[in-house]
Parts: sequence; C-alpha cells; structure tokens
Amino acid sequence: MAPSWARELVRGVCAAAGAPEPLMRWRQARRAASSGVTRRSVGSISVTAGTDPLDQRLTVLHELAHWLGPFPRRRRGRVLHHDARFYAIAFDLYRRHGIPDAEVLVREGGRYPSSLRHARALGIAGADVAWRSRREALGERARQRPPARVLVAEHTVRLVRDGRWTRCSVCGARVVGPILARLRRRSGRHILLSAG
Ligand SMILES: [Zn+2]
Ligand SMILES: [Zn+2]
Repeated sequence: MAPSWARELVRGVCAAAGAPEPLMRWRQARRAASSGVTRRSVGSISVTAGTDPLDQRLTVLHELAHWLGPFPRRRRGRVLHHDARFYAIAFDLYRRHGIPDAEVLVREGGRYPSSLRHARALGIAGADVAWRSRREALGERARQRPPARVLVAEHTVRLVRDGRWTRCSVCGARVVGPILARLRRRSGRHILLSAG
C-alpha cells in the first residue's frame, strides 16, 4: 500500500485536475532512486520506491503527469512519452508540489537528458546553464572520438531476413526500428561506418 503522503498527493493532484484517481501500486526497493510506470489502459500507477524521499515524490509527480497528460503521440514509429506537452504538465506539478527547480534539473535531466531542452523552453531556473553544459559535454565527447572510417561505401539497402532480424545483404548491417519501417516503405541508401 502506498504511504499516506503519496495517496494524499495523488488525491489532491487528481482533484485539482478534475481527473479520476489511478489505482496506486507501491513497492519498496533498497536502492536510492525510485521508478514508476503508468498504465492508463488499466488505470494504474505503479511505483517502485527507493530510499530517497525527494526522489519518491518526484517519481509520483512524474507518473501523475503521464496520468493527466494527453495520450502520447507517435513519430517515426516511436511513442513520444516525454515530449513538450508532457513536460509542460510535469514541471508545473513539480513546481506546485515542492520539488526545487535545481533538484528537478539534476534528477529529471539525469534520467531523461532531453528534458533539459523542455525545461529551458519552459523557463525553469538554471535550465539554460544545464542544457548548455550538457551540449558542451556531448560536443567534447564527439571531438574525442576517433573519426569514423567507411567500411562499406554508400549503396542501396537490400533487406533480407536473418532469423528474427532483418539485415542489409550488401553490407550485412542489421536494420531495426524506425529505419527498417521507412526502408520497407521505400528504398533507401546507407553507408557502413566503423565506430572509429
Ligand atoms: Zn515518464
Ligand atoms: Zn547495407
């Protein structure tokens, strides 16, 4: 059973939004960080609560943002669970329910780096600095990587089945996900590079 503060938080947030309350499932874990899953189809929020109280609270609010938000959209075959619409709700909940902006940036940004972009757009204090320093770190990492070598020159992809996978028969590369979906619709070219 969820602790009383969590049940009160869920009740208050849902009442303010005029939304029904989800069924709460609560499990305790030994690690510090919490995690959660919202299943709107069955009307439940499941939280695996870590030992850090602030992280528990942030996780409940994160899942409530999924609960209250619009159904996630898809783009190129991927479900966008954490898009701008989601973060407009989530950051508002964090702010109204006592998660300091600096904590939001560290925790949400640590789990979902793309949240920093949304935090910045929503004017969360410190988000611009966090976003810039992450971009610099990524640029630094890219500069330190040795340049990629061309292993197989650019060619038209020929999809072939290989057990449960699909590969390009020209270069042997495995083709998955949105790229596979796109190549099934129309032919395309690619190039096989080494990681360096
Ligand atoms: Zn989420
Ligand atoms: Zn190929």
